[in-house]
Amino acid sequence: MNGERAGRHAEALIDLEALRHNLAQARRAAGEARVFAVVKADAYGHGLLDVARALHEHSDGFVVATLGEGEALRRAGVTRRIMVLQGHDSLGEARRAARLQLEPVLHTPPQLDVLDQGHAGLPMRVWLEIDSGMHRMGFDPAEVAPALSRLDGHRALREPPGLMTHMARADERDCPLTQAQLERFTQLTKGQAGERSLANSATLLGWPAALGDVVRPGIMLYGGNPFVDGRELPCTLKPVMQLRTRLLAVRWQKKGDRIGYGETWTCPEDMPVGLAAIGYGDGYPRHAPSGTPVRVAGQDASLVGRVSMDLLTLDLRGVAARPGDEVLLWGEGLSVDSVASMAGTISYELLCAAGARSRRVVLNTGAV
Ligand SMILES: *Cc1c(COP(=O)(O)O)cnc(C)c1O
Repeated sequence: MNGERAGRHAEALIDLEALRHNLAQARRAAGEARVFAVVKADAYGHGLLDVARALHEHSDGFVVATLGEGEALRRAGVTRRIMVLQGHDSLGEARRAARLQLEPVLHTPPQLDVLDQGHAGLPMRVWLEIDSGMHRMGFDPAEVAPALSRLDGHRALREPPGLMTHMARADERDCPLTQAQLERFTQLTKGQAGERSLANSATLLGWPAALGDVVRPGIMLYGGNPFVDGRELPCTLKPVMQLRTRLLAVRWQKKGDRIGYGETWTCPEDMPVGLAAIGYGDGYPRHAPSGTPVRVAGQDASLVGRVSMDLLTLDLRGVAARPGDEVLLWGEGLSVDSVASMAGTISYELLCAAGARSRRVVLNTGAV
């Protein structure tokens, strides 16, 4: 490899067997509801096509953000239903969606206008997004009835629009907003035909009254805990991504030596400090503070000093380790949630960043 030492780079190992296990957990929680796996943002950094292929047999559909992602799935042979969260912007895009049998989510009035501008081609399925309280996307409650009457029997549609909404605070235990959103959505859609879809991972696992006909789990498929308080889940999720690298060196530092940029950490005694080949350039969070857990050769260790672009410094007191040993940043035995909470972020961001920037290695494809 161009003279580079093999294995010296950060690698994101993607375990598709763990992914299928997590989907099975989502399906169990979903009961009778159909399960559309959310694969936006390159499947949360895990690789859109690898994930879609691994889940194709087992999911009822997929959810992407853009038409381009939907098209990539169709090109790769995905025949399941595909919901496109941003919908279309023009008649040309509506035609593209219709041709590819993608299911755009309509969230603004201009997207309805597009359907009146001309023939979109094959009749398609669409979703109408209702803003039940998150105030990010979707039709205001007062706009819902007019929008539904515009779509009623529309020649561009092959069936009544699906009705969807998104929860702002389902990740918080007992938050009254979720109940209020559910009630608003139920009231606004009463008596309407069409499928209902309300549930992200947190709603699916925490609010069984709000499942509807189609659930949209994302983070749980990748093994992340969707709840802010990290509460124990009603199912066992397996980490899909193992972010790992190698130990480059171990140095003995003296008591009082200060480590790294800004001298933010001082050795309290003479001690070994490890150097690992990963940093924020590989998607590891720069704001992870001293004390953030890592695993070195299967033992607990922790970060000291600031995260550099491609290096980390580690407290190796009590750890038996040599250059070349594996350093695990998250995965089996070290949850991405624990690292995220130390770094003041959420697992979603870490997975997206590390998956995009590290070399991905796919395991357990199931292909023989
Ligand atoms: C991202 C997203 C989801 C998935 O959310 P998770 O918290 O990852 O389960 C579901 N629905 C919509 C509209 C989304 O944008």
